[in-house]
Amino acid sequence: VTRETILTNALLVLADDVVPGTLVLDGPTIRDVKPGPARSPAAIDLEGDYLMAGAVDVHTDNLERQVQPRSNARWPSRSAMMAHDAQCAAAGVTTVLDALCLGDLGFEKDRVRTFRDGVADLGALGSAGLLKAEHYLHLRCEVPAADMLALLNTVADHPSVRMVSLMDHTPGVGQYADIDRYRALRRAGGMSEASIERLIAELQATRARLRDGNRRALLARLAGRPITVASHDDRTEAEIAENVADGIDVSEFPVTLEAAKAAKSAGMQVIAGAPNIIRGGSHSGNVSAAALVRGGAVDAFASDYVPPSLIEAAFRCAEAFDLGLPAAAALVTERPARLAGLSDRGRLAPGLRADLVRVRLFEDLPVVRQVWCAGERAA
Ligand SMILES: [Zn+2]
Repeated sequence: VTRETILTNALLVLADDVVPGTLVLDGPTIRDVKPGPARSPAAIDLEGDYLMAGAVDVHTDNLERQVQPRSNARWPSRSAMMAHDAQCAAAGVTTVLDALCLGDLGFEKDRVRTFRDGVADLGALGSAGLLKAEHYLHLRCEVPAADMLALLNTVADHPSVRMVSLMDHTPGVGQYADIDRYRALRRAGGMSEASIERLIAELQATRARLRDGNRRALLARLAGRPITVASHDDRTEAEIAENVADGIDVSEFPVTLEAAKAAKSAGMQVIAGAPNIIRGGSHSGNVSAAALVRGGAVDAFASDYVPPSLIEAAFRCAEAFDLGLPAAAALVTERPARLAGLSDRGRLAPGLRADLVRVRLFEDLPVVRQVWCAGERAA
């Protein structure tokens, strides 16, 4: 016996239009999408609210934020995972790639523990059916780090891994091309001048020694696997050219418009940070996502560190850049789903997963009112 759910009197956000209509669910799947109201007395009245596909978040560090709610306070890992899951569901994120860092470049010593616990908890809580959203893993590999390859080997064959990104947070490249900004960041973290200089010299020496070999080994380890491989913090056309030559076809959070445009013209897909749209600029002083959207250089948004930023960015972009809601919504639903190789979701269409978000605009804020993940209420 299948369970039928009828959602009616909704503004359906479809691939190329927004139409008043009705959605019929068959258990976990969308069975029918039709214009106009439903007559069945069992239909649920959505009171004219928007109904769109659930957001797909290909990169969020929100779990790490729950594990460490204060810089000096660690939270028990499973409790953190449940809080993270609830926040995703409440924000309309029905599919989430939990980003976990592999490889230490002197940021947080405990990140390895966060990584190990995160992988274990995801397996345990997921198979017990206790998570509201559907979770996958996004492995953020710190390419020049001495411990990266060994950590990757512990998890590379895990079935939940959908995406791997190649990071390099060495001072002098990518996000930290400006070494003075890097110094200021370390100073703010309480490090002495002498230790900062020692750390910079050490990290740059390690990079010179390990970066190229680690990158080759990593790409070889993942070759032929159904995993999306992305570059991260691209700054120059030369970096894009190296990615293209290595068969990497996604550029995540490019830090200059030049790199984003080079990525697009080379046929790569570009992921931008949704918080950057909400805050009106980059938190780390790089190119604004608005400039990337205006330059036609964004294929998908990721929430990066604030789950509600996805749905909010979609509505904001629909208005601010004249994209229209269907195209703007696709940047947080269908486009990231496709990018992560998930072809069974991301649109309101018969046969796809019933991952749904009901949204009402309160002034200019999209308020998520109800969420379904594979036909089950998740919020
Ligand atoms: Zn980065």
